[in-house]
Amino acid sequence: MDDPRAALGEAFAAVADTLRHHRDLGLIDVALAQPEAPDPSAALAAQEKALQGCTLCKLCRSRRTVVFGSGNPKAKLVVIGEGPGEEEDKQGKPFVGRAGQLLTKMLASVGFDRERDCYICNVVKCHPERNRNPEPDEVAACNPFLMAQLDAVQPAVILALGNFAAQTLLGTKDGITRLRGRPYLYRDIILVPTFHPAFLLRNPGDQYKRMAWDDLKLARREWERLTSGVS
Ligand code: URA
Repeated sequence: MDDPRAALGEAFAAVADTLRHHRDLGLIDVALAQPEAPDPSAALAAQEKALQGCTLCKLCRSRRTVVFGSGNPKAKLVVIGEGPGEEEDKQGKPFVGRAGQLLTKMLASVGFDRERDCYICNVVKCHPERNRNPEPDEVAACNPFLMAQLDAVQPAVILALGNFAAQTLLGTKDGITRLRGRPYLYRDIILVPTFHPAFLLRNPGDQYKRMAWDDLKLARREWERLTSGVS
């Protein structure tokens, strides 16, 4: 339709028809506000409970614990790793081993407290034996749970740790050295890829440390830009 006034008139007439129809059905109230977003803590708690005893993939045979996630459900920064290591499998919390201790320091170096400012989780929630990479069917089985976590937390920024997390989330085969150093848009969220702390422990030279530091500063800047520094 070319005439915008006529188009508007038709749209109003359609709304009036709908309202009359609702009145005839006995409806006396029209909810104009969006339904309130569910509480992220409650949503995550329900998801974690639902995942207990999960047998959707073969990782259930090698795990002791489903390592769901930890930190602040209302955080505007979500940190995503690959999958729980042995220590995480024992303790039931992500990033509590040596790599986790380094991660805590990396986050603190740009002013993030991991419990207050971050929600931390992994692409897969169960420990793969001998720390092998999770396989495509395992990633696919766990993906809805990661998506549900992101829907509950609604972060402004994701820090993707290492090849595996960055490649899985961005759907690319490019390596982390190529991917890092710039932000990406992922489901309306700014995603910053950087080196996995386990990689930094294996490669202790200044070269990688400096690049990781740049990435962390980038994540911090994006977080500040999108949240005005309010956590
Ligand atoms: N490495 C990961 O990718 N995740 C953890 O939780 C621990 C080590």
